[in-house]
Amino acid sequence: MLRFGQTCAAIAARAGKIEKIALLAEYFRSLDDANLSAAVRFFTGNPFAARDDRSLGIGWRTIVAAARNAWGFDEAQLGANYREHGDLGAALGPFVRAAMDLALFSETLTPASLYALFEEIANARGKAAGVERILRACADATEATYVIKIMTGDLRIGLREGLVADAVAAAFERDAHEVRRAVMAAGDIGAVTIAAREGNLGDLRVAYGSPIGFMLASPIIYGSDYRDLRTGTWLAEEKFDGIRAHAHKAGKSVKLFSRTLNDVTQSYPEVAAALGAVPGNFMLDGEIVAKRGESVLPFRYLQARLQRKTVEPELLKEVPVSYFVFDMLASGDDFLIDEPLVVRRERLAETIVASGHLEIARFTRLSKTPAPEELHELFDTARGRGHEGIMLKRSESLYHPGRRGKWWLKLKRELSTLDVVVVAVEWGHGKRAKVLSDYTFAVRGKDGVLRTIGKAYSGLTDAEIAELTPWFLAHKRGRRGHAITVEPKIVLEVAFDIIQPSDLHESGFALRFPRIVRIRDDKPAAEIDSIDRVEEIYRAMLAREGLPA
Ligand code: AMP
Repeated sequence: MLRFGQTCAAIAARAGKIEKIALLAEYFRSLDDANLSAAVRFFTGNPFAARDDRSLGIGWRTIVAAARNAWGFDEAQLGANYREHGDLGAALGPFVRAAMDLALFSETLTPASLYALFEEIANARGKAAGVERILRACADATEATYVIKIMTGDLRIGLREGLVADAVAAAFERDAHEVRRAVMAAGDIGAVTIAAREGNLGDLRVAYGSPIGFMLASPIIYGSDYRDLRTGTWLAEEKFDGIRAHAHKAGKSVKLFSRTLNDVTQSYPEVAAALGAVPGNFMLDGEIVAKRGESVLPFRYLQARLQRKTVEPELLKEVPVSYFVFDMLASGDDFLIDEPLVVRRERLAETIVASGHLEIARFTRLSKTPAPEELHELFDTARGRGHEGIMLKRSESLYHPGRRGKWWLKLKRELSTLDVVVVAVEWGHGKRAKVLSDYTFAVRGKDGVLRTIGKAYSGLTDAEIAELTPWFLAHKRGRRGHAITVEPKIVLEVAFDIIQPSDLHESGFALRFPRIVRIRDDKPAAEIDSIDRVEEIYRAMLAREGLPA
């Protein structure tokens, strides 16, 4: 592991991707199979393969205690080191005491031997002895630092799995896309690397049970010009208001993964049972939705089902769910993410038989360059059925795990609205050059002081803007850059799609696609929404996405 540590240190010191890849590739070429597969896994910051359910199960305290036994150190110095680096590996590594004098008895760590020791630790009850043995075998501070970093699960040298895969491709002269795809399919970069060296990437089997990323959609605004739909052909699906989940079924095993790639199978036993009854091995993408009889229920009903380890029979009855599947990522030995959506849809229809808690999401083929009326009709029908809106997916779209692009679009109305007050205004552009049409608005902070949260340009009519302009000029306070600050009196209701933390505005939040719904003449500025309301909407949005708050 000496060379592993040195390579890590060299990579950490290089900023450029190309240099990092070159360093890794050279190191990879020098290793035999057992060391190679272990080392590539370690470079992704994990002791084991992604598809491997095992974890080391050791906490920081175990590592610190083992280091204390193996090397001894000054506790105050450890504190100081930690404050300097903010990382346990970097803080502890320098205390290494190599067993020079006991050279005969000491062992040397290689990636393969370290991997074997990790396996022992994962299986062991008392883990402290194994950790101590590893630390005693470290020969210098760099090696110790990086060995500890692998144990804590974070190498921090600016490598992602994708970059390690690119280095594997570079080392063995393979196509980078093919390697990345194989890593996703096989769920083990170690096995993929060996296959890349041998030239048999095509033989890798799909690894059911190892989660992969979710393809995401970009928002488009209801009533906009729908320009993105002018190229290619598109399918429309309902946009379900539930929890996104991937399902893996292989033999008797069924697993459901959330967007955070957590195993959530136990929370939805009726879905797991329904999937288990379908013959074959497959990987699906879909949404778990609360549904009673024929009625789809809003997201808040599902809240009771989230993160349950066990679901009592009463709850199963009270909040029944259905898994609406809309995509198929693998079937048998075929990994399908590089097939166009229409093909994946065909495979889905051939394989999955709908049953009580398992349904195939319906889809409609849109006409070429669809008119807004066509979309709005589909939208209204979806809303009428209790869904949030519609998804528009390009028929040829490949499945890009973890990516939000323009291949999938979501059409929905706003996430929520806020009542805000205008604090600054700017002259518009083009035909609006002579009116104050760009508004910076604020919510009330915890201390009662106004804090800006966004800027909106659209939503008001020309007549409204023309009427507001002289009012703003008459209630000018000063200037802030291009903007004219004004008395905070004009209250607006603004709608938006997404709320996110941001340094851009004083409130610490920003709104995506804000648009003005109306002027709230009826509301005084004293009654606008507060930052607490913003935080509440943000938390609800995270919960709905299945993301940690
Ligand atoms: P949003 O919550 O507005 O960011 O929309 C993205 C989410 O829509 C995804 O994470 C999915 O959970 C969900 N979704 C609902 N219906 C579909 C569908 N038919 N296809 C893909 N994603 C969907």
